[in-house]
Amino acid sequence: MRLTGIRVFRVELPLREGRYAWSGGKSVDVFDSTVVALDTDAGLTGWGEVCPLGPVYLPAYAAGARSGLGELGPQLLGLDPTDLGVLNHTMDRVLKGHAYVKSAIDMAAWDLLGRACGRPVASLLGGRHGEAVELYRAISQDRPEAMASRVAGYRAEGYRRFQLKVGGDPDTDIERIRAVRAVLTTGEVLVADANTGWLPHQALRVVRAVRDVDVYIEQPCATFEECLAVRRATDHPFVLDESIQDLGVLLRALELGAMDVVNLKISKLGGLTRTRLLRDVCVERGIAMTLEDSWGGDIVTAAIAHLAHSTPEALRFSATDFNSYGTREVARGAPRREGGVMRAGSAPGLGVEPLEDVLGPPVLHFRGGE
Ligand code: MG
Repeated sequence: MRLTGIRVFRVELPLREGRYAWSGGKSVDVFDSTVVALDTDAGLTGWGEVCPLGPVYLPAYAAGARSGLGELGPQLLGLDPTDLGVLNHTMDRVLKGHAYVKSAIDMAAWDLLGRACGRPVASLLGGRHGEAVELYRAISQDRPEAMASRVAGYRAEGYRRFQLKVGGDPDTDIERIRAVRAVLTTGEVLVADANTGWLPHQALRVVRAVRDVDVYIEQPCATFEECLAVRRATDHPFVLDESIQDLGVLLRALELGAMDVVNLKISKLGGLTRTRLLRDVCVERGIAMTLEDSWGGDIVTAAIAHLAHSTPEALRFSATDFNSYGTREVARGAPRREGGVMRAGSAPGLGVEPLEDVLGPPVLHFRGGE
C-alpha cells in the first residue's frame, strides 16, 4: 500500500453550552479542528483529527496544525502508511517536535491499518477490556454555585465522574471544590483540575483548605517541579496532565512518585503510536490513566474509545466523549455516549465515515507517490 494523497480539512466545532472556560480566564467558544484524510493506491482512505484547546493550553494551535501538515505532507507521499514505525520515524526525521501535527497523520494511519486488515483499532491496540469505558464530564469554570448546579443535569445524562475547572482565585476555588463536593453522592468522583493556574503558594493554600474533602488535585502549577512540591505537601490523590508531554517526563514522574493518576492526551504525545507506548508503561507500573485528547469531534472521540477500551479496566480512570460537548456531527459511526459510558466500535479501523459535505473542500491537498 502506498500513500498517494493527503487531504486536510478545517472544521468548526460549536459548543452545546456556548463556551468552555478554564484557568486564568481562558476560554473557547468555537473549536477549530483539523481533519486529515490519507488516500492510498489500495483504494482505502484513513481518517485522523487534531484539535488544540485553543492556542494557550499547550504549545499547539489550530493554524499551526495545518501549517505543519503542509510541511510534513509532501514528504510522506509514497510511504506505506500501515508501516507505523517507519511512518513515525520519517515524520520525526523531516519535522522536529510538533507532536500534535503528527498526531492526526498517525491516527489516520491506524485507521488505515485497521481497514486494511479488517479489524477495529481497539483489537490492534491489545483487544477490548470490559463492556464499556467510563467517561468524565468537565465542568466549565464559573461561579461556585453555578458549577454545583450543573451536576444534576450531567448526572441525569449518566456521568458519575466530574472534573472541575479551577486554577483561578484560590478563595473562589476553595468554594468551588466545596460547593460541588457537597452535591455529590457516594461513588461519584471529583477532580479539581487547576490546569497550571496556581502559583505554588496558592496551590498549597487550596489543598490545605480542602484537606477534609474527597477530591483529586490535577496539575496545580505550570512546571513539573512546582507540581512535585505541591504533591509532597498534600495527601490528596494527585493527577499530572500538562507536564507529561513525552516518555522521558513520564519515566521521571514514575521514579519520583510524582502522581497517582496521569492524563494521556493523544495529540499532546504525537498520536496513537506514542500514546500506546506511554499507556503500556503506565499499565506495567500500575498508574491509572485518563485517556483523551486536548479536544476534538467524532474522529478524536472514536480514537479515544479504541485506546481506552483496549486499556485494562482497573487502570482506566476515565475518558472523554468530546462529541457530547459539541453540536456538529463530523462523521458517522463514531461512538456515542450511552449513559455515562461509551464503547469502541467493531467496524474495521476507527469505524468512522466522515461527512464530506460537512468537511467541505480540503484546505490542503497533496498528491503523488504512485
Ligand atoms: Mg487536565
